[in-house]
Amino acid sequence: MGEWLPPRKKRRRQAEVQEPVENKDLPFEEDWVVVPFIPLRCPSCGSTKLKTYGASRNRLERYHKCRVCHLQFKSVEFDPKNF
Ligand SMILES: [Zn+2]
Repeated sequence: MGEWLPPRKKRRRQAEVQEPVENKDLPFEEDWVVVPFIPLRCPSCGSTKLKTYGASRNRLERYHKCRVCHLQFKSVEFDPKNF
């Protein structure tokens, strides 16, 4: 379990994450290990405005609702080795 942070502190921490990467001491571009990241979209209308409201016990299935067309759907997390 992560430590509890009051809302103000948490917001500031998220802002730090979004700082431009050029200002940080990071590996050279060719040294990065790259993995795919597929942003979640509503399968009906394509919106990225989604609400995640629950997950299965093992956290591999997550339940979402589209804020635009209100479709409810679930996402399933795959191990890339089995994909
Ligand atoms: Zn939708």
